[in-house]
Amino acid sequence: MSHLVESLVKFYRHKQPEGLVALHEPSISEFDKKLVLDCLDSGWVSSVGAYVSMAEDKIASYVGASGAIATVNGTSALHLALLSVGVVEGDEVVTPSLTFIATTNAIRYCNADPHFVDVETESLGVCPQKLREHLSNVLVRKNQCWVNKFTGKRVKAIVYVHIFGLQGYIQEVAQIAKEFDLPLIEDCAESLGTKLQGTHTGLFGDVAAFSFNGNKIITSGGGGMVIAKDPNKMHLIKHLSTTAKTSGDGFFYHDQVGFNYRMPNLNAALLVGQLSSLDDKIRKKRALFNDLVQLLHRFSDVTPMVPRYEHECNHWLLSVKVSPERKDSFIQELNDNGLMVRPLWNLNHTLPMYETCFKGDLSNSQSAVQQVISLPSSPSLIV
Ligand SMILES: *Cc1c(COP(=O)(O)O)cnc(C)c1O
Repeated sequence: MSHLVESLVKFYRHKQPEGLVALHEPSISEFDKKLVLDCLDSGWVSSVGAYVSMAEDKIASYVGASGAIATVNGTSALHLALLSVGVVEGDEVVTPSLTFIATTNAIRYCNADPHFVDVETESLGVCPQKLREHLSNVLVRKNQCWVNKFTGKRVKAIVYVHIFGLQGYIQEVAQIAKEFDLPLIEDCAESLGTKLQGTHTGLFGDVAAFSFNGNKIITSGGGGMVIAKDPNKMHLIKHLSTTAKTSGDGFFYHDQVGFNYRMPNLNAALLVGQLSSLDDKIRKKRALFNDLVQLLHRFSDVTPMVPRYEHECNHWLLSVKVSPERKDSFIQELNDNGLMVRPLWNLNHTLPMYETCFKGDLSNSQSAVQQVISLPSSPSLIV
């Protein structure tokens, strides 16, 4: 066992003496349980109930958005976000290959194709320099739309993913989206609590999606949230999330194919509870991050990924870079010692259902995948 592995094991064992050290565990408080029980007692467990709108209001005010729409998960939130900006069958959506599969699947749910672009290696967000150059080389103007000159498909939107809650160059990417007059969707599944210079992630683009899956910074069991700047988009998202039912035309009138995507009240009750401890969780994760950076300082063969604005980062998954030759054995050794660590996702363009999709140069994504490892990051590791 290398000195580095030994030190990391000791570091985590000091915080959690026994059992498998999870990558990211939910922490559920007595208050959370009380709200869930209250919801059960009320009988309003499904898609109508006071906790749903309470959760929406709390997220909106936390983020600084005018409103929010609660969904069953982050994937459905992304699906609705894409539909709300007009992504339809046959379109292409510019999106990173380096992301969790949900981002890419949501594009395919619209019968559209992902059009993969590269990230920068500092924070793993879409690289603005490469994006501008790529779009300038690939897009042509036809009938007031952008068309990919190689595939002939309409390019309808850009997706930016805030990986691990790190701050990348979203402001620069938003500027490019504006120059090209393309809607920008932010995947904030991992970035609740992360801001850039006072502005919460999700407020730089047109529409944003959040997730409250069990491994995220706070959880509703399963859940998501959409925010949009344009009130018409908000209205459409809400409508599509509730089976596109219209009032005034009898009991069961639906004006298009909608979805059963509304977050159940039972999940919203847990979310309301979890929101009350979000800032405390971030504080603990920041403490864990600081301890880890201090520990790793001594080792030249590992580099922690440091946020651009450390005091505004949610520190969702603490990650490091190691040399490509060392990566697999490093993961293996830490796993063997009871620490759950993991590599980045398989680049989405390498997966069977997306391997024929259009892509730009992805060299930064490829090198990141060979180096980045995420370490246990649960807030419960700090008391
Ligand atoms: C978790 C996650 C999602 C999907 O959220 P679910 O709630 O699991 O559907 C989407 N994008 C990213 C980057 C994620 O990490």
